[in-house]
Amino acid sequence: MSQLEDSRKILEDALETLDKQDFYERLAFHERTLETHVTVERDSGREEVFKAFRSQHSTLRGPGKGGIRFSEDVSEEEVKALSLWMTLKTAVADIPYGGAKGGVVVDPSGLSDSEEKRLSEAYTDSISEFIGPDRDVPAPDMNTGARHMAWMMDEYSRIEGKTVPSVITGKPVEAFGSKGRAKATGYGAVYIVEKIIEEEGLESEELTAAVQGFGNAAEPAVKRLEEIGVDVIAVSDSGGATFESDGFSHELLTECKRDAGTVCKTGENISNKELLSLDVDFLLPAAIQEVITEENAGDIQADYIVEIANGPTTRKADEILEKRDVTVIPDILANSGGVTVSYYEWVQNRSGEYWEKEKVLEKLKKNIQEAYTQFTEVREKQKAYGRDTAYIIAARKLVSALEARE
Ligand code: NAD
Repeated sequence: MSQLEDSRKILEDALETLDKQDFYERLAFHERTLETHVTVERDSGREEVFKAFRSQHSTLRGPGKGGIRFSEDVSEEEVKALSLWMTLKTAVADIPYGGAKGGVVVDPSGLSDSEEKRLSEAYTDSISEFIGPDRDVPAPDMNTGARHMAWMMDEYSRIEGKTVPSVITGKPVEAFGSKGRAKATGYGAVYIVEKIIEEEGLESEELTAAVQGFGNAAEPAVKRLEEIGVDVIAVSDSGGATFESDGFSHELLTECKRDAGTVCKTGENISNKELLSLDVDFLLPAAIQEVITEENAGDIQADYIVEIANGPTTRKADEILEKRDVTVIPDILANSGGVTVSYYEWVQNRSGEYWEKEKVLEKLKKNIQEAYTQFTEVREKQKAYGRDTAYIIAARKLVSALEARE
């Protein structure tokens, strides 16, 4: 089954647990999905056409919300799965948004900066009637970042004839962005780790972690793990993985990444496969989808998997991990820090009042730790898998939103 079909099945099971099966069709299917083709002038003067999508799964609890990917792997199926996960994530994080996602089928490494800018503008033109501060609010995702968001905000503002900062989040702090946004996903995940440590009566200094990936989401997670005293003994990126039994310093990893383009010259070379099966307390997959599968789930030795990436664990792997007593903190909870601070950015844009980083991170910590507490309570009561628990929480909120209108 595809990840979209898997997700619909877990949602169906969650609704059955709640005895609310009648709502399945209202919640499983997307409100609308746009397929578009955007034309971009290359630096050579030649015009090229790229396929692109924007999918809105739900606007039941608020405007659609979700990132924009630039990747060759973007497809209608992928965008729809990610858009459904956004609806579930915003419900679990309890922020007043729905779920959406978009992407352009492109290998961005083949584009110059000016071509990327023109692509961002052309994509914004093609979805401009679909998005808006009260309709659907995009954000960065794989291979897009703050500058793309600034380009897209400017293009949307040009179309509207006025500055509309709240149409998009993840913007540079200097261009209506929120302080703390860059740290939000990684810090949010580690705020959950901190709650686990507190609840289980563990000592941070005695704990270890392995982190797959060292990009926008993973790098701040490594920083926060270091701040709380957990040893990060392995890190990886697309260039390979590196191991250091005494733990890496965040400073050394960032220096190495900056100077050599990869984190992997710092410790003993290991493979990405070996990193996943290290005997650590916390494994944080923070790179790509489907890295923990039925093939390697039996080798995982971590006590907790904290999913920073979207969809790193397959459904079959979930079943194996559950039997082996590995606790999975699912993506729609673990990586919800990013969308939560995106919401804070939107609130700041609309009110015109801007907050200090400390306030942003304090609010995030409280919000995500409360979501985690609710997760543990429901998990205990329902005796459900980690992922299913998060779906039950989200399904309950979505059903309530429908019932409130009956
Ligand atoms: P990124 O492009 O900044 O970083 C990705 C990292 O993964 C890089 O270090 C890259 O080298 C590494 N990587 C790529 N292929 C790999 C492989 N085969 N093995 C090991 N490492 C590999 O992307 P990001 O924004 O950090 O996103 C990472 C994941 O987190 C994605 O699944 C994304 O959807 C999810 N996520 C990110 C955010 C966010 O705020 N950035 C929020 C929610 C979810």
